Amino acid sequence: MVKPFIIGTRNAKDMLVKGAEILKRGGSAMDAVEAAVNAVEENPLDRGVGVGGTPNLLGVTQLDASIMDGRTLRTGAVAALENLVNAISVARKVMELTPHVLLVGPGAEMFAKAVGFKKGDLSTERTRKIREAMTTGDAEMLDDPAEKERFIRMWIEEDRGKWYSKMTEEEWGTVNIMAMDARGDMCVGVSTSGLGYKLPGRVGDSPYIGAGNYCDNRFGSAACTGTGELAIRLSSARMIVSYLENGMSLEKAVTKALKDVHALEDKTISCLAFDPEGNTISGSMTGESIHYYMDVDSEGPEERKGIWVKP
Ligand code: ASP
Repeated sequence: MVKPFIIGTRNAKDMLVKGAEILKRGGSAMDAVEAAVNAVEENPLDRGVGVGGTPNLLGVTQLDASIMDGRTLRTGAVAALENLVNAISVARKVMELTPHVLLVGPGAEMFAKAVGFKKGDLSTERTRKIREAMTTGDAEMLDDPAEKERFIRMWIEEDRGKWYSKMTEEEWGTVNIMAMDARGDMCVGVSTSGLGYKLPGRVGDSPYIGAGNYCDNRFGSAACTGTGELAIRLSSARMIVSYLENGMSLEKAVTKALKDVHALEDKTISCLAFDPEGNTISGSMTGESIHYYMDVDSEGPEERKGIWVKP
């Protein structure tokens, strides 16, 4: 019998405690994951998730999130969600209260309010400064629809794609948190503001089940961060779980999934995964990888080394 545990990406380190407390009380993997992801979403210092997230090209923060239950394979997700902080909780409600899997944009926001979520302010001092900087001091122009279109056109014509390479690591990021509870149920949650300065409406891998997030009690759990377009093209999280289903070890499964990405182009992803025996791993394509682990007996988060998968 594997001890209930929770793992997360680097930015989840201090927040895992929230989830571990729930597991210690005999709570579910889903409640543990949601609580820990909420804590990251509420952390204003995290620049890739929730309230601290980085805005899109028009200076508006749009969140993507998803959650998956490994016992039933039920899942819920939201994309391009504005004005709410706890995107993962809205995703969970999509799973629990609707026959759907994914709600986007204004529909997702309307649903959230209808089921009782309070409006959250994602427009922070930092996002206001970013808007000013992007418009060289004339942020009001972004309120005019015609100007918005001109701004997007200008960006496409003059700067297409260059923004990715200009970003620092602080301007993107995603949280991946996953757990297994005393019943052996797995859950994985992913939440992000996506790539900084993305085109409005751009959706990354995080809310795509199979791309940024997948789990199945029988085989394991996987989630991704990084250039979401690549994880979408390869269904990376689903592939890791499939590789496990087909008998690969956890390390081989993650290695293969990341080598598949190396074969595409020079942008990268990272991933986090575990198997039903409770082995955990993280993989990076660009350097040493780490993740954090806590189980029901841990006093604090334990740093675990992952693997660096070279081409
Ligand atoms: N995977 C996220 C996305 O593509 C971004 C990130 O992890 O930094 O939206």
